[in-house]
Amino acid sequence: MELHDIVIVGGGLAGLRAAIEAAESNKNVSIAIVSKVYPIRSHSVCAEGGTAAALRENDSPELHAWDTVKGADFLADQDAVELFCKLAPKEILRLDNWGCPWNRTEDGKIAQRPFGGHSVPRTVFAADRVGLHETHTLYERTLMYENITYYNEYFTTNLVVEDDCVKGLTAIDLRTGELVLFNAKAIILATGGAGRIYDFTTVSHIVTGDGIAIAYRNGVPLKDMEFFQFFPVGLIPSGIGITEAARGEGGYLRNRFGERFMKKYAPQMMELAPRDIVTRAVATEIREGRGFKGPYGDYVVLDLTHLGEEKINERLPLIREMCIKFANVDPVEAPVPIRPIAHYTMGGIDTNMWCETKINGLFAVGECACISIHGANRLGSNSTTECLVFGAIAGKRAVTFCENKQFKRIPSKVYENEEKRLFDELLGKEGDESVGQIKKEMQTTMDGKVGVFRNEKDLLNALKKIKELKMRFNQIQIVDKGRQFNTDMISAIELSFMLDLAEVITMGALKRTESRGGHFREDYPERDDKNWLRHSLAYYSTDGPTFSYKPVTITKWQPVERKY
Ligand SMILES: Cc1cc2nc3c(=O)[nH]c(=O)nc-3n(C[C@H](O)[C@H](O)[C@H](O)COP(=O)(O)OP(=O)(O)OC[C@H]3O[C@@H](n4cnc5c(N)ncnc54)[C@H](O)[C@@H]3O)c2cc1C
Repeated sequence: MELHDIVIVGGGLAGLRAAIEAAESNKNVSIAIVSKVYPIRSHSVCAEGGTAAALRENDSPELHAWDTVKGADFLADQDAVELFCKLAPKEILRLDNWGCPWNRTEDGKIAQRPFGGHSVPRTVFAADRVGLHETHTLYERTLMYENITYYNEYFTTNLVVEDDCVKGLTAIDLRTGELVLFNAKAIILATGGAGRIYDFTTVSHIVTGDGIAIAYRNGVPLKDMEFFQFFPVGLIPSGIGITEAARGEGGYLRNRFGERFMKKYAPQMMELAPRDIVTRAVATEIREGRGFKGPYGDYVVLDLTHLGEEKINERLPLIREMCIKFANVDPVEAPVPIRPIAHYTMGGIDTNMWCETKINGLFAVGECACISIHGANRLGSNSTTECLVFGAIAGKRAVTFCENKQFKRIPSKVYENEEKRLFDELLGKEGDESVGQIKKEMQTTMDGKVGVFRNEKDLLNALKKIKELKMRFNQIQIVDKGRQFNTDMISAIELSFMLDLAEVITMGALKRTESRGGHFREDYPERDDKNWLRHSLAYYSTDGPTFSYKPVTITKWQPVERKY
């Protein structure tokens, strides 16, 4: 058994930031970071475009907060948004001090670029490799602290919760295949999103919603899961997201008539309108036949040719490289084929603005959590900032929580039961269903029926299909019966998590009979504040989720119509 005051699950931006804050707050607190991949392989390293914070005279935390609340289609909790925008600038400077190579203006200030839905250029960046630099900066920093221990390539399977208190967790050491019990006073889930529920997605293969599903199964409600963000610009066919920075630097979206169609949908902000609006515009152009035909379906294009080679090389080097490698198109010379793509999990583990869940000692932060600052539509470049700001809050809160607390004893049957569930029941499975096949069917169902445009008929069909897939999951076969690096078994566990979450997303979308932000119902195309200005909460039960709702916190800004 491993014993640590605080166990953080996840070594992405949120988990690393939490670890540093906890380590700095109290040298005597022992902190573990448990991660299923080496931390610098977390999805955070894929963040390209930037991190938002109000740094200049023409900007303020207040304006950042208003943009975020309006972008969120008024579903964000405004007290949390205000806190977030107030603390964001400090985090940028902190990373600067820790060595993050932010781009600079000619007079040496930290540079900022325009991003969708932000009124002023507010997005701090390091070329188009922002997440890579941020994650490395934080990772290097964690190595300074003697009270942080890494458990890399440990796959968390479950929490140990008793009497509404978290006591620890179980994780498989992937190298040996041994199940390890962690005893902890506080646990911070920082496990990232669940984008792999979809087929055409920008997220890495490891983004399978594990922590979200684990919290849900242990009784924590999931908030606003029906709000999944689709990003307008997915490179065809690979599904690499082409950062909003490409439009921030001046890129255009065009249909097959060469028209900059955004003028019809957002005449002022054009390509830099919030994502929900640009995504629906792209999807509408394609649907109504103004796209190009291609071997992978219809598409429109992102045109960067007018930016010139020098600017593209300086500001978007990674994008250029990826377009050449993965689509065989050099954006310096020709427009790039794109269509909307699943991107970001806006809902997640229900927490308050201090990252606390309803279970004592259990915190959640980063993409797995729903605090909620993104509401119905996240503004680009607010997510990495969220990981930094709330990562620090979660770390500090967890330290305070541990003070004067003793470790709680974990009965040996907890370990034995989990070992039995995993290595006897799951690993022993000899059915005729394949994990890969079920996963594929789940992903195409979500893409086809729970995507940008939704309606009752499709959602009901999707729900039926997901329930069928859950039944079929009981009949899977695990071919690899070995213990070491059993990726066959890990994929099965990840799939079981994703099936639970697909069900919650679909049912939440079915119940929400309005259109708001990223959730668009063709049969209910208007926002309905009277009935739906509220968060949904999905609770686990063996027969599927049950739902309740809670009010949105409004401090300053009453909902108004969104115009861009
Ligand atoms: C292509 C792309 C580009 C993006 N660009 C931007 C951008 O420019 N600006 C912006 O603000 N946001 C951007 N985002 C979003 C942002 O990068 C993410 O929301 C954020 O980095 C998530 O960080 P995280 O720490 O919450 O999770 P992650 O970085 O996903 O890390 C999750 C961690 O949890 C661990 N983990 C998960 N499950 C388990 C388990 N069962 N057991 C043990 N460990 C586990 C993983 O090993 C990993 O270390 C982008 C996202 C993508 C996909």
